[in-house]
Amino acid sequence: MNYNDLKQQFETYKSMNLKLNMQRGQPSDADFDLSNALLTCVDANDVMTPSKIDIRNYSATIAGLPEAREYFAGILGVRPNETIVGNNASLEMMSNTLMWAMLRGLNGNKPWMNSKPKMIVTVPGYDRHFLLLQKIGFELVTVPITTNGPDMDAVETLAGKDASIKGIFFVPTYSNPTGDTISDENVRRLASLKTAAPDFTIFADDAYCIHHLTEDTTRPLNFLRACQEAGHPNRVYIFGSTSKITFAGAGVGFMGSSEANIQHLSNLLNAQTIGPNKIEQYRHVKFLSSYPGGIEALMKAHANIIGPKFNAVHEVLSRELGDSGLASWNNPKGGYFISLDTKLPIADQVVKLANQAGVSLTPAGATYPDGKDPKNSNIRLAPTRPPIDEVKLAMEVVATCIKLASLEVD
Ligand code: PLP
Repeated sequence: MNYNDLKQQFETYKSMNLKLNMQRGQPSDADFDLSNALLTCVDANDVMTPSKIDIRNYSATIAGLPEAREYFAGILGVRPNETIVGNNASLEMMSNTLMWAMLRGLNGNKPWMNSKPKMIVTVPGYDRHFLLLQKIGFELVTVPITTNGPDMDAVETLAGKDASIKGIFFVPTYSNPTGDTISDENVRRLASLKTAAPDFTIFADDAYCIHHLTEDTTRPLNFLRACQEAGHPNRVYIFGSTSKITFAGAGVGFMGSSEANIQHLSNLLNAQTIGPNKIEQYRHVKFLSSYPGGIEALMKAHANIIGPKFNAVHEVLSRELGDSGLASWNNPKGGYFISLDTKLPIADQVVKLANQAGVSLTPAGATYPDGKDPKNSNIRLAPTRPPIDEVKLAMEVVATCIKLASLEVD
């Protein structure tokens, strides 16, 4: 299609007054509907847990209800005494852990606050990680994410020589936005990494650890066990939540680490709160453990809703851009996002054009610290929330914008 035809097509989209959103990494209403029984699964006759805790009252459960610790430990592949179950957001648990690391130090180590601490992050990555780390006071050091997880050669070089690099923060499974999963070899390399900082810490945000979209449900090597085997038993914290399992921001967050780390952090958390919301925890345990076929069946039901939307993105992009060389994108086996890279430095222009045509996309640059993508090429696509017809149409618009912007910059 020549420039004038493309321009014409773009104007046609504009005249359609579209309002399509490919920006929000949120479940759809159909996903939420799978968990509606949560809303009624605890009532006045059921306020005492099997461990004899009245969920209406305060109780000494700073690390979570025993039933919830048991259940969510299973998702992270750790033991109940290696788990804290919290309130509605894993981001809050990450933030608490980082703040205590700054103020008091993690498990016997010195506080990081006076050492101008740096944190390695993978790019492209999750904007909220960057925001959180920077607000708390970390300088960010970026390494590329590869199809096998963080670029370990880069991590080894950086962490090996700079004692102010206190750790690495990343998404190990179906990463946001690239959908990449760390290899077992790289789990081992991180676990045994020789670091200048004695308290180098791995923060693994495993938000998508059970969010498979294909039959291949293999998971990477268990981080906690790998760190124990490598002689660094307290090196890793793993985070997760039910935000993309039941209700977004209205479920429970949880984390795993060594028993010593969990005890240390629980002591500190005890100063902040008498305990997390036990009603939410209890009803999640009841709902998830009684879901027919268990949580695996629930995740499969999500995959049946979400998978076709991912396929639709892939189909439209392949049809419209396939052999043009104008963009490349991934086709992840799980998670919530598709990461697209334009060949030319035009991501900002593509996002702008798409907005003009009524399709809102994650702002260009958002997948890099400070919103600055050095190549101006990465765009995060979030196909989960809109209905599939809207996903298809939105991607047709995006493809037109990529073609148009590529010609305009040339
Ligand atoms: N971690 C990652 C990698 C995410 O993509 C998201 C949401 O998009 C979150 C955490 C937010 O999780 P929560 O709702 O548990 O704070």
